[in-house]
Amino acid sequence: MEIILAPNAGFCFGVKRAIKLAEQAGNENLPYYTLGPIIHNPQVVNRLEKNGIKAVTSLEEITTGGVIIRSHGVSPEVLEEAKSRKLRVVDATCPFVRRAQELAGELTDRGYQVVVVGDRSHPEVIGIVGWTGSRAIVVENAREAEKLGYYPQIGVIAQTTQSEQNFRQVVEVLKKKSKNLVVHNTICHATRQRQQAAAELARKVDLMIVVGGKESANTRKLARICSETGTPTYHIERADELCASWLQNKERVGVTAGASTPDWIIEEVVTRMTEIKQEEQKNAEEIQPVAENAEENAVPAAETGDM
Ligand code: SF4
Repeated sequence: MEIILAPNAGFCFGVKRAIKLAEQAGNENLPYYTLGPIIHNPQVVNRLEKNGIKAVTSLEEITTGGVIIRSHGVSPEVLEEAKSRKLRVVDATCPFVRRAQELAGELTDRGYQVVVVGDRSHPEVIGIVGWTGSRAIVVENAREAEKLGYYPQIGVIAQTTQSEQNFRQVVEVLKKKSKNLVVHNTICHATRQRQQAAAELARKVDLMIVVGGKESANTRKLARICSETGTPTYHIERADELCASWLQNKERVGVTAGASTPDWIIEEVVTRMTEIKQEEQKNAEEIQPVAENAEENAVPAAETGDM
């Protein structure tokens, strides 16, 4: 069985940067907190916690020290509140997310109705909406876009991890909703490359394994893209979730991973797949001599006196 790793699988630039900034903060003699897990990966979150960086759900839980803003970014209100609480702020907002926030704010200032294409409950989207003074409308897909009314001016922004296809479908619908439509495709380069590479690989293999947190929006999207190619696809968080039966009779298996999946988890998955195949081969070899012995030990019909 051949295992093929998709190019660009694993940590993206923005996640690497956020973890590095958090680790640097961990070296300071100050308690630091992240608003929510820094990435959707429990192992990385646990490691940071051992370095004194705890994940909390709101600023109210922090009385002293500093707060690390995740790569997803936050609304300006959250930044203001952190400052007013005299907390040290380490802003690890990914520059690509920052650009989407700024564009959303600019369009709102220029009188456009901003439409954000994304998952409305995702922190990145909540943050972007915050930069429009909560005036932006979020649509998750073309069906929702159809329900919008008419606006003289619409500005469209994408959640950075949206699929190109979904974004294009929404834009097509919005063309009917305004005579002045400004489109900013803010899907990040890393996401675009990862999705294209995953889809290309999925078309060439018998099975796709997508590795990443079950809560990770970009990993779930990758799994959906792979599955839409028609290739059987499994989304796992860890190597021990792999089932030997998935790999049976598969000649080529593709592996990709979300932007928040550390390299060592991908390596563990690939190693486990190799082990499963080796165990399978060993078992087959053990069965083989039994079969041969069975033949050797079979008593020829002549000797039984049946003739
Ligand atoms: Fe930044 Fe893109 Fe990574 Fe999101 S997926 S953190 S936008 S590089």
